[in-house]
Amino acid sequence: MLKYAVASRGDDISDALVERIIQSLNEFGLNQDKQEPEIVISVGGDGTLLQAFHDYSHRLEETAFVGIHTGHLGFYADWIPDEVENLIIHIAKTPFQIVEYPLLEVVVRYGDETTPKRYLALNESTVKNSEGSSLVCNVEIKGETFETFRGDGLCISTPSGSTAYNKALGGAILHPSLASLQIAEMASINNRVYRTVGSPLVLPQHHTCLLKLLNNADVQVTIDHYTINHEDISSIQCRVAEEKIRFARFRPFPFWKRVKESFVGE
Ligand code: NAP
Repeated sequence: MLKYAVASRGDDISDALVERIIQSLNEFGLNQDKQEPEIVISVGGDGTLLQAFHDYSHRLEETAFVGIHTGHLGFYADWIPDEVENLIIHIAKTPFQIVEYPLLEVVVRYGDETTPKRYLALNESTVKNSEGSSLVCNVEIKGETFETFRGDGLCISTPSGSTAYNKALGGAILHPSLASLQIAEMASINNRVYRTVGSPLVLPQHHTCLLKLLNNADVQVTIDHYTINHEDISSIQCRVAEEKIRFARFRPFPFWKRVKESFVGE
């Protein structure tokens, strides 16, 4: 029997839908297993699925995700509440197809003896100065110095995160079948002393991007909706992760159709 878990955004509409889902899946003889689910049904929005991803990021090989939106159409949450009965029958009765999306690996290193910390992001990681002054860092790509960045910060996103913060920064929208990461600038300072490329960069798998911090001020590093505030960070290394997120697909909903419906109109 398929083991499932349900995650809710926590508002009344999402909670009520979660109750309905649990009841219907129980009628099919399926039980909720929050510890070791094979499928996680997220009810709310893309933010809810982001949280569900982090809750189960320790068992990505065994867990697939599916998202129902109770607000506007999402990129991860692409089922509407009216389709729930249909979705439940699919989950209970049919083996589902899996679509895998790339993730971002972020390794934070410190100036002291602190052990480096490794994170996985589904949308992006951002690096900003936490004291309101600008971030100054050397950007290395594949072991070679590329530029010295000075400005508000940098956003390193996954293809599926390219429609989130990255898009607001003028980054390109990337299809999630492209195992890659994108670096987008936040208000870079360009003058005779500081010069950056000024365009978003897309790196393939195994091209590592290393941000070596040059000013000793505290930096703020975000991983999706989480903020890490640590003193004495010396570098942040990003690359496409070995791990992937697995989505359960019960019907086609092409990525470009979702982009069109979200940003251009139906
Ligand atoms: P939030 O600030 O409450 O909401 C951010 C918005 O981004 C929500 O509308 C969310 O959709 C949407 N979103 C999340 N992932 C997306 C994706 N892959 N493609 C398109 N839209 C997406 O924060 P949150 O819900 O916890 O999400 C955290 C995310 O907020 C971060 O990962 C970052 O991408 C984004 N963010 C964006 C900006 C910006 O655009 N200027 C600034 C800061 C953070 P739902 O309403 O469906 O949940």
